[in-house]
Amino acid sequence: MPGSILIVDDVATNRIVLKAKLTGARYNTLQAASAAEALALAAAQRPGLILLDVTLPDMTGEGLIARLRADPRTRRIPIIAMTGRDTPELRVTLLQAGANEVLAKPFDELVLLARLRSLIRAHVGDEDSALREQTCRELGFAEAASDFVPLARIALIAPTPAEGLRWKSALAPLLTTNRILLTSYDQPCGDDPTRRAPDLFVIGADLAHRGDGLRLMSELRSHPETRHAAILIASHPDARETQASALDLGADDLLPAEMSTPLAAQEAALRIGAQLRRKRLSDQLRLSVDEGLRLALVDPLTGLHNRRYVNAHLSRMSDRARRTGHGYAVMLLDLDRFKSVNDTYGHGAGDEVLASIARHLRQSLRDLDLIGRIGGEEFLVALPDSSLVEGCRISERLRHEIAQSKITLPDGQMTQVTISIGLAFGGTRHDDPQHLIDEADAALLCAKGSGRNQVSLAQHTNAA
Ligand code: GH3
Ligand code: MG
Ligand code: MG
Repeated sequence: MPGSILIVDDVATNRIVLKAKLTGARYNTLQAASAAEALALAAAQRPGLILLDVTLPDMTGEGLIARLRADPRTRRIPIIAMTGRDTPELRVTLLQAGANEVLAKPFDELVLLARLRSLIRAHVGDEDSALREQTCRELGFAEAASDFVPLARIALIAPTPAEGLRWKSALAPLLTTNRILLTSYDQPCGDDPTRRAPDLFVIGADLAHRGDGLRLMSELRSHPETRHAAILIASHPDARETQASALDLGADDLLPAEMSTPLAAQEAALRIGAQLRRKRLSDQLRLSVDEGLRLALVDPLTGLHNRRYVNAHLSRMSDRARRTGHGYAVMLLDLDRFKSVNDTYGHGAGDEVLASIARHLRQSLRDLDLIGRIGGEEFLVALPDSSLVEGCRISERLRHEIAQSKITLPDGQMTQVTISIGLAFGGTRHDDPQHLIDEADAALLCAKGSGRNQVSLAQHTNAA
């Protein structure tokens, strides 16, 4: 049950009180009275969050958290550890084991509920991107995430420059593989516009004015460069309302504004490290999906659009032509006797010829023209807003240019190829693009039949 919360506590009354609070906030709950029960339920039910008391009869809190983190079925489920004995040492131990948050009993309900909302929201987002990546991978066009860990950029935006320096000197020794910048409300990404935006921001809740930090966070969230950055809001531990608002407005985590003791700095560094890992993973998933979508539409050998994209784009071109009354030309280009290129020079040389023809087409045509590779040695070009005369002229020009140009093969040899072109003209009639491609294909066959290295016009177009 992804929307449910698993309550782990060996004291029945504690479970009942929590259950009542959570039911009041419209959450479904599951209950476990021991670590063993919690492990079994979490793996079987996959709750959306686990709220666990750290004193259990059969395992330490950190032991249970480590076990949950080690099991792939429960690895990503957010965990809030609850303790009646909230010490800086214990907080660090539990965060190190993999807890997302440590809350002291008795709870502050306002912060607890804001924390639940924030962690559940983040978890749903993470699961969603993991799912999309998995789909892309199953479809065969996503790379597995790489292990390369780039240097992260962390921006600290403190209420005063002196405070910023204190944060930096507390955190820098613990976050040595990262670059820490002191930036400001006015220039949150720093003063060098050529650098990429920070991966993570630590922002004081109150800067020059009360609530400035939260306003800045909303701005960063709406900006394309920074909307995926991790944002942690630093506030006074007693500023409960600010903390709850920060979480509800999209802060990924909270930090104490005071980080000067070694344990406080360590806690802050652990939280920053966890957010950086999460950001890195979600960046990788997003890039992998973007790259997958690109690969689904682009032919890797030539970089031209593939048949799938060409079909979709031609439909749009056809709709537009009907609307505007301006026709468009579709040509099919096929290399002549290409098999003999492969036979003579090898398949690698054949590939280079295809790539070189693709470069030529790209250089020789307008940006708005559609160029695709729709078969082994067959290309399609569509020219929007073009007359029949222009279509003929451009086809003839391409044929001539390609026949004239010399192609350098990978081993340094030179070769020349010719192409045949079938040309059809559409847009004024109510024909669908596939019909036009069929016409161009028939014309291409004519060009091949009458000796190759020539342009042939579709029958229908000829008659029109
Ligand atoms: P025609 O003038 O009648 O078009 O003759 P052709 O040899 O070009 O046509 P045919 O259809 O007989 O052969 C096409 C060749 O294109 C066969 C195939 O090996 C080659 N080919 C298809 N895709 C690729 C590719 O990606 N790389 C290379 N190197 N060759 C390819
Ligand atoms: Mg051919
Ligand atoms: Mg062919």
